[in-house]
Amino acid sequence: MGTREPDNVLVINCGSSSLKFAVIEPTSGQVLVQGLAERLNTEEGRLQVKPAEGERTTDAIPRMSHAKALEAILKRLQSFKISAVGHRVVHGGEYFSGSVQLDEEAVRKIAACEVLAPLHNPANIVGIRAAMTSFPELPHVAVFDTAFHQTMPPHAYLYALRYELYEKHQVRRYGFHGTSHRYVSGKAAEMLGKPVDSLQMITSHLGNGCSACAVKEGKSVDTTMGLTPLEGLVMGTRSGDVDPNLLLFLVENTGRDFRDVTDLLNRGSGLLGISGLSNDMRTLQEAADKGDRRADLAIAIFCYRLAKGIMALAASLDRLDAVVFTGGIGENSAPVRERTLASLKVLKAEVSPELNAVHGKHAAGRITTETSGLLAMVVPTNEELVIAREAIAFVHG
Ligand code: ADP
Repeated sequence: MGTREPDNVLVINCGSSSLKFAVIEPTSGQVLVQGLAERLNTEEGRLQVKPAEGERTTDAIPRMSHAKALEAILKRLQSFKISAVGHRVVHGGEYFSGSVQLDEEAVRKIAACEVLAPLHNPANIVGIRAAMTSFPELPHVAVFDTAFHQTMPPHAYLYALRYELYEKHQVRRYGFHGTSHRYVSGKAAEMLGKPVDSLQMITSHLGNGCSACAVKEGKSVDTTMGLTPLEGLVMGTRSGDVDPNLLLFLVENTGRDFRDVTDLLNRGSGLLGISGLSNDMRTLQEAADKGDRRADLAIAIFCYRLAKGIMALAASLDRLDAVVFTGGIGENSAPVRERTLASLKVLKAEVSPELNAVHGKHAAGRITTETSGLLAMVVPTNEELVIAREAIAFVHG
């Protein structure tokens, strides 16, 4: 019996002005090459490529469109056998509760969700079309940020608004970061040596965007993000929950129009807005350590609101077997985890400073003491690997 060449998947995450890619061997999870085409359609366009073995290269490619970026990427992938392409798609609306092999019908449905994600879905579709042109012979699979949350019950996903708004305009809570919540809940179960369908946990993905999710027996039953990724927790530049009347208040009192206010809530708020310094948690921690009061306040609000979000999500569970931290902040910031757990004293959370300092690497992810009333863990996420595995499943059937 001859050994089969391993299947590799090209994973594409296409934004409006950037395109991230990686070639992944889905069984081992090995990343063979990864890169980023950024500042697309500008004079400053550039393509960075980093092979697993070898130096990172950076090429200036002015006025690089998404299609041109893929063409340039393709040239650099000649030596890899690629069996499928996995696309990260932000919004699948109520059409998709799982991944889908892309055909015209699926692309039409993704386009129909553009009204729900006007910044993301059009860019995702541009990436899909360009990749389908560059790799016409390969299966293309869409993996949705919203799909994992399609198991939420109506009492969790409906807003207390006129019901017709849901029926006529699909106004409801969808949730995002589903690929990450699904991956880390499964991984946490694996690390605990228990089947995921025997566990009830809350996962918190803390990156530039932040959301938490109640995962009951492997299924999302509630999450902090809503119709759009603005709802819920404090994030890098997003406010998270505010009083909805705030929009009108700001329009009437600050001379801004609704578009400016929406922009302010999405891009000028959160950690950046409070600190006036940065949306980056590392920068804020350094500043806070040097005595910057507003940087410290931004972190305090971030952690308190996260703890509050976790407590609220607990309403959807019968018990709380674990709280899981992931994402750039969740995986790396011991102070954020410590401050968040300090606001969960009601759940009798007791942090182990030693285990927390090493980000859970010494005790199968655990960062709380053995006698803590709440188990908290750190579980690194790997959204690209999930996308690669979803895509290859369509090849093997
Ligand atoms: P994205 O959502 O873009 O994928 P990431 O998951 O990479 O973002 O998270 C980015 C955030 O993680 C930034 O706020 C960054 O400051 C934070 N971060 C990364 N490393 C650390 C660290 N060692 N300590 C504190 N925060 C960190």
